[in-house]
Amino acid sequence: MKKILALLFILLINLVLVNSVQALPVVIAIDAGHGGKDSGAVGKKGLYEKTVTLSIAKKLSALLNSDRSFKAVLTRSSDHFISVPQRSEIARKNRANLLISIHADSAPDRNANGASIWVLSTKRADTELGRWIEQHEKQSELLGGAGDVLGDDNNPHLSQAILDLQFSYSQRVGYELANDVIKEMSTVIQMHKRKPEHASLGVLRSPDIPSILIEVGFISNANEERLLGSNAHQDKIAHAIYLGIKNYVKKHPKFGERH
Ligand SMILES: [Zn+2]
Repeated sequence: MKKILALLFILLINLVLVNSVQALPVVIAIDAGHGGKDSGAVGKKGLYEKTVTLSIAKKLSALLNSDRSFKAVLTRSSDHFISVPQRSEIARKNRANLLISIHADSAPDRNANGASIWVLSTKRADTELGRWIEQHEKQSELLGGAGDVLGDDNNPHLSQAILDLQFSYSQRVGYELANDVIKEMSTVIQMHKRKPEHASLGVLRSPDIPSILIEVGFISNANEERLLGSNAHQDKIAHAIYLGIKNYVKKHPKFGERH
């Protein structure tokens, strides 16, 4: 009896401790687009997209890491090539709550300018969902704890339902986050679009991590090429993205909690 009471006491202490622990930082994976042999878009004056994306990614990472609410993880921190699947893999390994991919736009129309944010389209999400369900290995990895519950006689309908929920959750978070970041960016820089755009670009394909892809401006536009190469302008962009993320998390205090 004494033993049981002691065990109950320990259990109680643990519960109190667990509940009083400070909220874990929200893990943000920052993905600098392109790198190494893949330069991305190249401006008329010779500015590489891969250089701009890395510089802004590092600035954003520094801002987030100086804030106790966040922990930033870079998919690359130097000029080397990594594939798209590797990028989401790094985010997943680090248990990222969000994935922010940084890119710079290019268009045949040299007048095109401004930033835009892309999120996964529903149509594409359906295709990706189908693909993920076919890959059982990925599926159990994705389902995490839920995968264990499903066990060996995996019910495909049940897994699909769980994946569906996860996917629509990721999409919703991505869309809302994109709006918050657009709000901040539009106060300091030119925007190309003021609503999140839907696409199936690169890292947006991971259904398990809410992701957004930010085109920080047009490298094909002479004026923006000059701006994107400047330290001050890169700082402005990184700071606006940081504020957008912060605002989103403030509005969703439970965001990032692990279950
Ligand atoms: Zn790009």
